[in-house]
Amino acid sequence: MKLSIALDGPAGSGKSTVAKLLAQRLNIMYINTGAMYRAITLIAMRNNINHNDKENLQSLAESLVMHFNNDKLIVNDEDVTDKISMPIISKNVPVYSAIPEIRNVLVKLQRKIADKYNVVMDGRDIGTVVLKDAPYKFFLVADSKVRADRRYKELIGKGLNVDFDEILFDIEKRDLEDSTREISPLKKADDAIIIDSSMLSIEEVLEKIIEYILLSSPHLVPLNL
Ligand code: C5P
Repeated sequence: MKLSIALDGPAGSGKSTVAKLLAQRLNIMYINTGAMYRAITLIAMRNNINHNDKENLQSLAESLVMHFNNDKLIVNDEDVTDKISMPIISKNVPVYSAIPEIRNVLVKLQRKIADKYNVVMDGRDIGTVVLKDAPYKFFLVADSKVRADRRYKELIGKGLNVDFDEILFDIEKRDLEDSTREISPLKKADDAIIIDSSMLSIEEVLEKIIEYILLSSPHLVPLNL
């Protein structure tokens, strides 16, 4: 039986940063499922495959060979990590991620990885759908202005010319789209622990999560303390 930790929450709640550090501390694999939906969005847009063209989108999803190399996502031998974090992809990904044909392919792949490896997986539906039986589930939330500010600083840091209000608008719009879609909406699992990161640093969120995990499984001593 492999160890799985599910980490869900809205855009910019700090999931991926925390998940990456948690995976390092526990010496297990980090799977960023948002990156997988972003990659399909990137390749579909590149190939001009419209979101209504379900048949071609399913074939595309089935044909892509994806793997993680640390926190880099490699798709058909191309490192797409930087491209998929562009705002144009963030804007379009909810349209593609709401398509059942795409989700079925990705959920299967995510479960296959979790069957084989110990994982921290972050996303929107990990605790509710992908790893419903995960023993550890966390749902990260934060005020939308705090989340927009984090994203703003991240993009400015990458040298992009972005506007705070536009980022805030986009984040709130994406949350609404993700949480109101029919299939696997962004939702807290009943048995997930909520952590509000608005007033906490990444390290504080990480410590809280490790504390919860160690309380229920003291044998899981973090390796890199
Ligand atoms: O986590 P991140 O913000 O990179 O996710 C990008 C988008 O991918 C989300 O806004 C959502 O539309 C989609 N997604 C999803 N299910 C997941 C992970 C991400 O629908 N498990």
